[in-house]
Amino acid sequence: MPQVEPDQCRSARVVARSGRVGGVPRLFDAVLLDRDGTLIEDVPYNGDPERVRPMPGARAALHALRAAGLRLAVVTNQSGLAKGLFTRAQLRAVNARVEQLLGPFDAWLVCPHDDADRCGCRKPAPNLVHSAARRLGTTPQRCVLIGDIGRDVTAALAAGAQAVLVPTPLTRPAETSAAPWVAADLPTAVAEILRRQTAIAPAPHRPTAASAAPPPLAATGSASPLLPVASASPPVTAGPARPARSSGGTGTVLVVRSDSAGDVVVTGPGIRAVAAHARRVVLLCGPRGRAAADLLPGVDTVVVHQLPWIDPVPAPVTGPDIAALTATLAAVNADEAIIFTSYHQSPLPLALLLRTVGVPRISAISDDYPGSLLDIRHRVPVGIPEPERALSLAAAAGYPLPSDDEPALRLRPASPPPARAGAPGYVVLHPGSAAQSRGLPPDLAVELVRTLVKAGHRVVVTGGPDEVALTARVAGGLAVDLGGGTELAELAATVAGAAAVIVGNTGPAHLAAAYGVPVVSLFAPTVPFGQWGPWRVPTVRLGDPDAPCRGTRAATCPVPGHPCLSRIRPEEVLTALTLLGVAPSRPPRSAEATALARSGR
Ligand SMILES: [Zn+2]
Repeated sequence: MPQVEPDQCRSARVVARSGRVGGVPRLFDAVLLDRDGTLIEDVPYNGDPERVRPMPGARAALHALRAAGLRLAVVTNQSGLAKGLFTRAQLRAVNARVEQLLGPFDAWLVCPHDDADRCGCRKPAPNLVHSAARRLGTTPQRCVLIGDIGRDVTAALAAGAQAVLVPTPLTRPAETSAAPWVAADLPTAVAEILRRQTAIAPAPHRPTAASAAPPPLAATGSASPLLPVASASPPVTAGPARPARSSGGTGTVLVVRSDSAGDVVVTGPGIRAVAAHARRVVLLCGPRGRAAADLLPGVDTVVVHQLPWIDPVPAPVTGPDIAALTATLAAVNADEAIIFTSYHQSPLPLALLLRTVGVPRISAISDDYPGSLLDIRHRVPVGIPEPERALSLAAAAGYPLPSDDEPALRLRPASPPPARAGAPGYVVLHPGSAAQSRGLPPDLAVELVRTLVKAGHRVVVTGGPDEVALTARVAGGLAVDLGGGTELAELAATVAGAAAVIVGNTGPAHLAAAYGVPVVSLFAPTVPFGQWGPWRVPTVRLGDPDAPCRGTRAATCPVPGHPCLSRIRPEEVLTALTLLGVAPSRPPRSAEATALARSGR
């Protein structure tokens, strides 16, 4: 079955352009656009070019994208062809009219099928996105799709692209709630794409102050997880320019990311950007992030100290502890410091201590007025992905990601998976989480293993030392139980060998992203999905995005029955694996037969 109608694959101006601008890798090479309801008004099954009406502002918005060097493609479901409601010639005429009104596109990718055809290209399947990226000479990870319904978002994320939902009155509210990124209209979506692109790769030779300025307050839908903070703060003050580099780089840069392993992993791109320019990188992290720090490329030395103003279970602040931390900071003898935080964490207590030991240049994101504590006070809107937040801070401090790197999570190469996991190609199910609210309901996890094994998947259940009882119950004699594996490195190796990882919003989701392993994300909406979802890796999101825990940041589910995840049906996970292209590794078999086979070994 053709994925693309060849006669619709006109290519107006595809040229092999470099993805690098000014020596800095770009977040996006291309923007993929849904047609009906996104570029033009949705006239169901329209075969008449005279009825094509552009959405407000579309022409100027597309022009801005072209001017910024982004390639454009249309990715559109046209089941009217399969239904016989218009002809191919009529479709060509309508698309020609779209180009007449909105300017040329580099590629058109059309699914001519209907749901009953069960093709791989009709959105929410991701093949149109894969095809578009190929046609445009890039990867899905460097594409962002703009669409008006959940199918668009699902297709983009399943391919590893990013997605912006621009809702119309026809968009279902739950689809808006589930989207990682929501914009009020097409021009707003485009402005934010361009802002994010620039935030991690400021134009060379621009004063740092420009990139440290507050971002524009993009208007987003009221249901958006991306509602910007209204800024009433005084203007930012830019610090002195970064000290001139010696031939060996800037010297010693202290980078900081406290909190858990996942937090450290998502900060990795920002740290790599610093490492590309600095002679030596010292990472200060908390005890729970230590093992992840050891896996990060670019880190020369790791210093561990729990920061009581960051840790979710903070120790009391005592004079001796602060004195010890201050002595540790002094011993680093840093030329400058970059304090990475999540959006509700303050860098200022640490900045104060760094000032007292004479660190001459300190950069951080702070909505709170920093006085003289920061030289570079960077601002970002709420809701952008954590790795981008880190990359934009590094760039604002004068450390853009270098051209031979990629804006993606990375870890040091993993060891081979443990032998007990079996040959690579298994599916990892990680039921637990340090925060109960973000873990899977155990009953659901049990059901998932049964369903996956029955469908022919080999399942490996992973968990930490305090989750042995949970993983044993979930594995239930049907799956390989690796619960209690103490080392993060072993968990990373297990994840790296997987065909997919099924996990809540917790560390292994980010390990999977770092190794390019697709994720079925059973995502409790306690924090924004767009900020904390797996970054730039094929992902399917499941769970109720409107559950009462939404936005609470609760560590323990505040709602009886954990409804955001407990209502997920195991069949949804099978469908998600299919969307991600993960096929069972053996023929379906009954759970009983599997149990017998395993017990007979
Ligand atoms: Zn199709």
